Amino acid sequence: MTDVTDEAHRLREQLEAERQARRDAERLAAENARLLYERQDELELLEMVAAASNEATAIEPALGAAIVHVCAHMRWPVGHAYLVDPATGALRPSGVWYLEDETRFAAFRAASEDPDLVPWLPTNVMATGESAWVTDMGDDPEHFHRAEVARAAGLRAGFAFPMLVGPRPVGVLEFFTGGDAAADPALLHLMDQIGVQLGRVVERERWRAELERSNADLEAFAYVASHDLAEPLRSVAGFVALLERQYGDRLDDRAREFIAYAVDGVERMQRMIDDLLLYARAGTSDLRLERVDAGELVAGALRDLGTAVAERGATVEVGTLPVLRADPGQLQRVFLNLLGNAIKYTAPGVSPLVTVSGRTAGDDAEIAVADNGIGIDPAEVERAFEMFARLPGKAEYQGTGLGLAISRRIVERHGGRLWVEPNAAGGSVFALRLPLP
Ligand code: ADP
Repeated sequence: MTDVTDEAHRLREQLEAERQARRDAERLAAENARLLYERQDELELLEMVAAASNEATAIEPALGAAIVHVCAHMRWPVGHAYLVDPATGALRPSGVWYLEDETRFAAFRAASEDPDLVPWLPTNVMATGESAWVTDMGDDPEHFHRAEVARAAGLRAGFAFPMLVGPRPVGVLEFFTGGDAAADPALLHLMDQIGVQLGRVVERERWRAELERSNADLEAFAYVASHDLAEPLRSVAGFVALLERQYGDRLDDRAREFIAYAVDGVERMQRMIDDLLLYARAGTSDLRLERVDAGELVAGALRDLGTAVAERGATVEVGTLPVLRADPGQLQRVFLNLLGNAIKYTAPGVSPLVTVSGRTAGDDAEIAVADNGIGIDPAEVERAFEMFARLPGKAEYQGTGLGLAISRRIVERHGGRLWVEPNAAGGSVFALRLPLP
């Protein structure tokens, strides 16, 4: 009898233990599922912010998308960004907000954008470079001058985190809610990652704006230079020609030689002005992209070089070239420069032999212009592409030193690359790579 009771007791205990184990396992599974779900949610948030950051072509849309996504993730009604003014280093409201209810939060927004007083929360984040959490703004009215308007709008808790470029904050994002919200280190860690992501956008877009500004400045300068310089230049050329025409018979050979130098100087300066203008335009004018046969562009460039080809007795062999997506006028200018150089930079007494060949390399087309010229010292290769770069010891060859700088600018604006390598048979190979259409 006792045996049976003991056995029943043992079985009951076992059953209970198994039930408990199953409950534990179910709780664990539910907990894991919740964690997984949250993780998934966090990953989605990071992905959405990253996608918006990559697509943005200005700072504000990237900030706007991040703020909307964070508010949706948290189910919080208010989000806002401050940016550091690069000129003064001061923190300024960006004007980018998410407000679930514009009327209800209008006074809070106005207090946040008060030009005379940047609120404590973003100021503190700027000073420490770290995120901060406030559970109740009403607790500390001395710090939170927005406490009153926040309470009136039903806002209580909030957090803020920096947008970082390396260790340097370039702005602050802040979010607010009406409910109780305890500090959440895991969430702040997630926000830190968003802060780094947005810091990159701020840096990238400021660089882009800076580059556009300096390109526009350069173009404006080039226009002014070309018009203002062209005028006195024309007058010098005119008077020198007049001098030769009217007084030519009274001048000796030496005087006529000086006049020839003056004319040469004027022509060189005119070429430099023209090239400067081309360089400026290569960075700013709109690209008119279309499908073009590179073979036709090369043929066009060779027509323009007809005299040089004949004078130098050059042989130019052109292989099969790919179809590209490019601005025909601009890309033909690149071939004109490369072929012109290939014909020009040969040793005296050597007939130029130039080969133009094409091949595909993955998703790109590659076109090479190989010559049997004087070659370029490998140490000078990068200098050759700089503005006004004329390599040492080449004074006998005429040029402005802008052709390669213009060509690289054009190719890079097409999303490609232009470089030079030594030709195994002597001379140089200039190669350009552009995405296939
Ligand atoms: P430019 O020919 O007007 O001087 P570029 O910008 O076209 O200016 O070229 C810059 C410099 O690079 C040239 O002055 C020359 O020294 C060198 N270079 C360019 N192309 C070649 C080439 N095919 N072979 C040798 N040197 C070259």
